[in-house]
Amino acid sequence: MDNTVKTRALVVRTANSGDNDKVLTAVSPELGKISIIAKGVKSLKNKNSSGCGLLCLSDFVLKEGRGMYSLMSADCAEGFYHLRDRAESVAYGAYFGSLLESGTEPGIPAAEELRLCLNTLFALTKRPEDGETLKLVYELRLAEVLGLAPYISEECQCGAPATHLSISEGETCCFAHKDPSAVELSRDEMTVLDFILTSELKDTLFFKSPPALISRLGPVSEKYLEYHLGRLPKTLEYLKKFTVR
Ligand SMILES: [Zn+2]
Repeated sequence: MDNTVKTRALVVRTANSGDNDKVLTAVSPELGKISIIAKGVKSLKNKNSSGCGLLCLSDFVLKEGRGMYSLMSADCAEGFYHLRDRAESVAYGAYFGSLLESGTEPGIPAAEELRLCLNTLFALTKRPEDGETLKLVYELRLAEVLGLAPYISEECQCGAPATHLSISEGETCCFAHKDPSAVELSRDEMTVLDFILTSELKDTLFFKSPPALISRLGPVSEKYLEYHLGRLPKTLEYLKKFTVR
């Protein structure tokens, strides 16, 4: 029986295993989230080591085992090396990768989730100064791909103007119908959320919004994702060392 698998996947987490090996977590369009035991790749002399780094999009040849894959070869197609020029960009990239890990499951194809992450990483290499905007876009669009996106309307279901977003219900509501999870939003903030959720991805990845608006919406989108995904990755705490002043 041939249990060799080929896939182009993004490495979203690496952990050391013993003196020479690594265990990789990667996201593949066909296989979803996968674990790979990569023997010998801690040595930089190993021919596969450059394809096994964090945020490497690599062509993997793998052998399928019980609940895990063994690395046969890894060939890096895109390493997002420009991100490494800025510590802050590395922190954003690591967070984007681990959020992709949180939003994917083993055995469930994740082509759209992966494409969103790759597009966001490419945008970050081009516009490293816009990390907070890209983070907001990525979080909301990932929620959308996962079927968790909030419904933004100018009106509450009762017809009154919407003033809040209910985190738990995932929809906008008026003051009278808000629940304890609701956060107040200005009209401008709702417009930005609606734009991000309903426009073409390429337009949202390159839009410019006043930084004050983005920094007010950042915590809203974090709270929203935390509620709907259960928790947010630890890499967010690391990112905040750069972004919270
Ligand atoms: Zn209402």
